[in-house]
Amino acid sequence: MTTIDNNLQQVMRRIAQACAAAGRDPAEVSLLAVSKTFGADAVAEAVAAGQRAFGENYIQEGVEKVAALRQLSPASLQWHCIGPIQSNKTRLVAEHFDWVHTVDRLKIAERLSTQRPEHLAPLQVCIQVNVDGGDTKSGVPPEEALALAQAVAKLPRLVVRGLMSIPDHAPDFEVQKELHLRAQRLFGQIKASGEPGLADFDTLSMGMTADLEAAIHAGATLVRVGTGIFGGRTYPAA
Ligand SMILES: *Cc1c(COP(=O)(O)O)cnc(C)c1O
Repeated sequence: MTTIDNNLQQVMRRIAQACAAAGRDPAEVSLLAVSKTFGADAVAEAVAAGQRAFGENYIQEGVEKVAALRQLSPASLQWHCIGPIQSNKTRLVAEHFDWVHTVDRLKIAERLSTQRPEHLAPLQVCIQVNVDGGDTKSGVPPEEALALAQAVAKLPRLVVRGLMSIPDHAPDFEVQKELHLRAQRLFGQIKASGEPGLADFDTLSMGMTADLEAAIHAGATLVRVGTGIFGGRTYPAA
């Protein structure tokens, strides 16, 4: 068994234990393996261990990996863009990814919809929400999330699937859970809005290596785990 295989099993156990402790069905929580900064070989190892959904932050790096994996592995993979998107990168995202978690402006969503190729399924998107303030952070303020979700839902080549959040690192479980519950309450409100364009609103993307248990207790349906699977990252010098 490789290290990545081992790590994946361990993360799956953490998810199962958190679900048991929270009284949730583990089938409700999916695992996104965050492979940023790791090579296609590491992704291929995770694929061999059964993982199918991968998250990338840096668009160019992600696009190269999507192409490399097509050569390396016959398995059909799902690629999620989880990093910030500049206007000049929307075309690459629309052409190469299956999901985008970081929609926080209508203008970016409009470009993604226009640029999504006809032969591909609609792009699945989450609205990124900034649950803990901070003007410099990505994500819409909570009070603007419903209006943005409604506007994005009208775009023909996008399907609004839910909310995503990246709260600041908090030291303990209760604080982590309280921040995740803010996203969960908003998720519930938007779901309950009964908006016809939001019929597929079913994904709450939150929780990473350090706080996946708290996120699962707060209702996450998708956790994004990098370090716990691939190990520590070294960032190339800018
Ligand atoms: C890097 C990253 C992750 C994974 O973080 P880890 O702490 O390595 O698990 C999850 N979500 C986003 C948006 C990230 O940028």
